[in-house]
Amino acid sequence: MGQLFAVEIIYRGVFQKTLAKNITRGIVLAAHNEGKLGISFGRYGDSPERNGIPAKSFAIVASDAQTLEAGMAQYEPKQVDVTVVLDDTLCKGAESWAWYGLHPVHQALKPGGTLIVDSLQDAPTLLKGIHRRQEPYKLGIVKGVTSFSGMWVYKDDHTDVRILGAIAKALPAVVSLASIEKFINEKLKNPLKATSAHTTFERFTSMNVKPGEGNAEEPFSFQLPKWNNMRKGVSVNGQPQGGPYADPVTKEVGGFRPVRNDKFKKYSTRTMRPVVNFETCTKCTLCWLNCPDASFDVTPDGKYDANLEACCGCGICEAVCPVPNCITMVAETAFDGNASQWEAFRKDKAAYKEWLKATVQPAGERSHGFRYRGQYKEQIPAVLEIAEKG
Ligand code: SF4
Ligand code: SF4
Repeated sequence: MGQLFAVEIIYRGVFQKTLAKNITRGIVLAAHNEGKLGISFGRYGDSPERNGIPAKSFAIVASDAQTLEAGMAQYEPKQVDVTVVLDDTLCKGAESWAWYGLHPVHQALKPGGTLIVDSLQDAPTLLKGIHRRQEPYKLGIVKGVTSFSGMWVYKDDHTDVRILGAIAKALPAVVSLASIEKFINEKLKNPLKATSAHTTFERFTSMNVKPGEGNAEEPFSFQLPKWNNMRKGVSVNGQPQGGPYADPVTKEVGGFRPVRNDKFKKYSTRTMRPVVNFETCTKCTLCWLNCPDASFDVTPDGKYDANLEACCGCGICEAVCPVPNCITMVAETAFDGNASQWEAFRKDKAAYKEWLKATVQPAGERSHGFRYRGQYKEQIPAVLEIAEKG
């Protein structure tokens, strides 16, 4: 048996699909330059994708046909040598189609393997979100603004080749920098992109993450019923309605909280979340009416609290709220939990006001969910400066 390598790319469905595909395809075509064989493919269960849903692409590279065939016996690799995370808000974990609960991003990474994150944040900050595990691994950052595109659109900002350069540094056995440069020059016919790959290769470093280091949270998990647990006949459960609930301070019962799916938590879908200023809210109901995921709870005092286990981060509530700065979408990286904002507001209004000031202001820009970071024209100079400096 020869050598077999696997690389997985964790990305935001639709918005980064072409980017992920270009990277895995690039690995395989570059490895051909060394006489290796390979295949790139998306995870079967992730297609068709939804906007922002965490999804995976894979590249498998082998030294010979027989080894590749053996490696392809599983529909997706159980263990990978390198995991690439294309959006740092995914560091909190990826949940695909509600099949598994929340998976740590290094779930499939071999002991000693390398986790590469495309991010502007430093390693200690990323490790606040990345779950701890028992096996050591390496963490490396490709410094850059998260690259998002729209459906059927590809933003060619060199993220693909920069990640290829980092992979060549992290795991030269799968593919060398020379092979990547040859692939870019011959197939992509873009010397500038070859330079980008080369520069990232030279700059890329990784640190050792020790066992037990990282986010101590226990990832959310559940067991789906097996096929032989099914009930006899055909029946569909009715949807329970939900009902009023208690104010944490006055204990007054009121409002309405719908019953939601207890398995599918949407928080891994978000790159941003709504932050609500309950003091300026006029109870106009527009956020509640327009939220496509029915995420708002009507509180006992008649306000609207975005339930952060149900919110997918689309940003529509921010767009429809008629009160200036009453709802602001803030990057997920600013938060480490999904607790109710309204409860925090009710328990200590002064502290909530301070928290609002500290949380909303640094974002410094109004935005709508996924159209954050790198999507606005005025951000381009800053994006180019970061790429220049590495
Ligand atoms: S961002 Fe707002 S509108 Fe979108 S799912 Fe969350 S609460 Fe609903
Ligand atoms: S849209 Fe704004 S003002 Fe209207 S209920 Fe929602 S948060 Fe309050």
